[in-house]
Amino acid sequence: MSKYIFVTGGVVSALGKGIAAAAIGALLEAKGLKVTIQKLDPYINVDPGTLSPIQHGEVFVTDDGCETDLDLGHYERFTHVTTSIDNNYTTGKIYYEVISKERRGDYLGDTVQVVPHITNEIKRAIKSATHDNDIQIVEIGGTVGDIESLPFLEAIRQFRYTVGRENVLYIHLTLVPYIRAAGEIKTKPTQHSVKELRAIGIQPDILLCRTEQLLSADVKRKIAIHCNIDSDAVISALDVSTVYEVPLSFREEGLDKLIEKKLSLNRPDPDLSVWEDVVRKIKAPKYQTNIAIVGKYIDLKDSYKSLSEALIHGGIANDARVNFHWVDSEEIESQGAEKFLSDVDGILVPGGFGIRGIEGKIEAIRYAREKKIPFFGICLGMQCAVIEYSRNVCGLSANSTEFEKNVKEPVIYLMERWHNHRTGKVEVRDEGAEMGGTMRLGAYPCVLTKDTNAAAAYKQTDISERHRHRYEFNNKYKELLCSKGLVVSGTSPDKELVEIVEIKDHPWFLGCQFHPEFKSKPIQPHPLFSAFIGAAVKEKRELFT
Ligand code: GLN
Repeated sequence: MSKYIFVTGGVVSALGKGIAAAAIGALLEAKGLKVTIQKLDPYINVDPGTLSPIQHGEVFVTDDGCETDLDLGHYERFTHVTTSIDNNYTTGKIYYEVISKERRGDYLGDTVQVVPHITNEIKRAIKSATHDNDIQIVEIGGTVGDIESLPFLEAIRQFRYTVGRENVLYIHLTLVPYIRAAGEIKTKPTQHSVKELRAIGIQPDILLCRTEQLLSADVKRKIAIHCNIDSDAVISALDVSTVYEVPLSFREEGLDKLIEKKLSLNRPDPDLSVWEDVVRKIKAPKYQTNIAIVGKYIDLKDSYKSLSEALIHGGIANDARVNFHWVDSEEIESQGAEKFLSDVDGILVPGGFGIRGIEGKIEAIRYAREKKIPFFGICLGMQCAVIEYSRNVCGLSANSTEFEKNVKEPVIYLMERWHNHRTGKVEVRDEGAEMGGTMRLGAYPCVLTKDTNAAAAYKQTDISERHRHRYEFNNKYKELLCSKGLVVSGTSPDKELVEIVEIKDHPWFLGCQFHPEFKSKPIQPHPLFSAFIGAAVKEKRELFT
């Protein structure tokens, strides 16, 4: 029988519920349990694919091609879970299902209501992700007290009755602020948030209290009495300097033992040595390296969450601290590349959509190529590298049709027909198609060419990586570009889709059509990020001080 841990949040948003859920997953995996983690999001968008990254942070992509909330990235980074379409449900997706069933006549004329139809659908959605896991952690998005999350809370309340009291645990994450002027820790917001939860019938079993300093036994007792909870079930969730320290800090506070007792798990103590290792390498590395990220949404770091984590992982693999230099590509357009890039050891151009800032990215790539600074282009970054090479090395009047519909040399374009290796179907794309309809999404196989940077990094030739884009390399230009020194180092197995390009006579220059950042973990840094940071560190062996 699988057991379920529901994680809710109170008081304010942005307390790090996703990280907490992921860290609980890491703790339980370290006890030898098979874990999965699911996110239930209260917003009405059917999936986050069309949400602006400025509002909602990065869109994370699963192997099975689902565009999901960025918290699924945390789940994959902290655990061995491979998330799929069933690991993320939104209110929109739940209603979509219910309304489709109603239209099909599945409810046989019933009046369709929030309770029981929506709540039943939510319970079905929860079970859809369970499979053969020992533990399923379910994070409920939003903050308790919001109107939007009520159906989810009602569904998880009922869930305990469906699967048995002994198989369900409610963990509530709150904030216990320190009021500097009074020199005191305040428990009232937590009391109110728990009161709110209890009013809808959920008594939390464990409280995770985000706090700047450890809660004293007195404070814990006070929270316990007011919240109707054991005082050993009040846990200080201390601020830590790296998120990867959270599993260690939870163990320190005895969270694993508490979960073990409350769910009768009978498992050995968790072995967290890999996490201790990760934290040590992040806190006291030998080297440091300066990496420029030339992008568009640089003010909202959450829109590049997996990317910045993957760079940190590349640092772990090379015993180096990665110092981030966020560069707005539009500023390169107006002020030139030299001002922003002359001091960095590596330049990365990440994925993106739309024409704004494109010329600045292309200019940054020219700078990296000519000055022989290690360069890593991801998705749009790879496409821009192809455009740059076509223009400045091959003399073509080149662009992507995404930015210039009738460009003379469309080196990046919408491929009209291509064989979808994931679905086995032939896909047809056209310029007029609805937004989102023609995206290449999810995991695709890629075959690497021997004796290239890519093959050296992966140490194998058959790989699989995740995609999220519409435009592709135009094979019409392959021969010409390759005759001028471009190297195609990865393609689809049928060779139709160019997946990785490189150039020779450069310390490290690689662009890939996929998003490797989605598969990087601190305990398993991604080969391309390791190789890129490795090349950057080699440039200038700067010690970490
Ligand atoms: N805009 C480009 C495309 O759709 C690249 C997308 C991306 O970087 N994820 O192909």
